[in-house]
Amino acid sequence: MNRSGEDLDVTTVTRTRCIRTRRDGSWTIVMVETDQPGLYGLGSASDRYNPAAVVQVIDQLYGPMVQGREVGDIEDIWQSLYTAGYWRNGAVTNTALAAIDVALWDIKGKEAGLPVHQLLGGKARSAVPCYAHASGGSIDELIDDVERYVADGWPVIRCQVGPYGGGGFLEGSAARLPRNPWDSRPFDEEAYLSSTPAMFEALRERFGPELKLTHDVHSHLSPQNAVQLARLLEPYRLFFVEDILPPEQIGWYRNLRQVTSTPQAVGELFVHPHEWRSLISEQLIDFVRTRISKIGGITAAIKIAHLAEAFGVRTAWQEGGDNDPVNLAAALQVDLSCWNFGIQEENNFRPEELAAFPGAPVIENGYWYPTNSPGLGIDIDEVKAAALLGDIDLAGYHAPYGTDRKADGTAVRP
Ligand code: MG
Repeated sequence: MNRSGEDLDVTTVTRTRCIRTRRDGSWTIVMVETDQPGLYGLGSASDRYNPAAVVQVIDQLYGPMVQGREVGDIEDIWQSLYTAGYWRNGAVTNTALAAIDVALWDIKGKEAGLPVHQLLGGKARSAVPCYAHASGGSIDELIDDVERYVADGWPVIRCQVGPYGGGGFLEGSAARLPRNPWDSRPFDEEAYLSSTPAMFEALRERFGPELKLTHDVHSHLSPQNAVQLARLLEPYRLFFVEDILPPEQIGWYRNLRQVTSTPQAVGELFVHPHEWRSLISEQLIDFVRTRISKIGGITAAIKIAHLAEAFGVRTAWQEGGDNDPVNLAAALQVDLSCWNFGIQEENNFRPEELAAFPGAPVIENGYWYPTNSPGLGIDIDEVKAAALLGDIDLAGYHAPYGTDRKADGTAVRP
């Protein structure tokens, strides 16, 4: 019996379960179970920095709400959960919402015997191109890494010199530290403005003008220097520059648009529609790259993608680092079906991680190829997932995002 009283044979949700995994405990997978034997869906609830909060929302708010609901009513379930906490669009609640949403799409696909992209309109391309992450301790090492990816056929390559965040970190006498320095690599905006264009000059000299290259600024710059960098990078014709401004300064994209042609990609930190809506509708960015598991799942991503199509903006959903294979599987299904897809960020999972997720997406020479597996096409081996976790003390889990600083100790936005 459904809510309108019609006696229909419908599938309903019986339970939601959060499964913590990965060697550092940073992945959370939600399993939504149904009243049909063996029929369940998976969603990503991973939040590396605040995992217990997402689990709490699912276990105590969203999970009880979806029990007994028809699994096919994805839009209404999304809208109901969206306002269930009254305050909305926080990172924690949107992650929990995304996990339930993606699991419901997985179930709907399995019930239909179709991959999710077929429910979203079918294939808009034969394969999904992805971008690789090339890096090195020096420009020569970076060039070696880029050569490896070029030889493997990757269509787009992200480039950086140095550790996470790339150049601009001072060492030795160049750092000019105060007498009482804090214990941190000092980040210097002017050094970054010099080293980043120099890196691309060397890359263009080696690889020519046509190789598609990107760079991630990780929001490290003040807005004035972000404008300078975008202009300095123009001669190197990047595929895009990523997160040149933090979410707090998105109004500066209007200034950027007036003075530079360097394509702009932004969004991995976005959780609220006010962050991406005007950037798309005012045509201030070129690629929207929200993380599907941070903005409410496939239901939200499809709406963003269709809005972006109307305004000539392409998608480049965020992946990498702390993401799990279920989030990547969801992103690839959306990538395949949206005409205004731009590029997909890749992720390098370890063999033992892939073994815990049968059917996990595998990128071959820079492309992911669709299968006809129903739903997301990915499963979880709970025994192997538990083995990945080992004997980690989840109650004592503590993994805050690291803080970069300037020479004087001022915190730099990541
Ligand atoms: Mg990034």
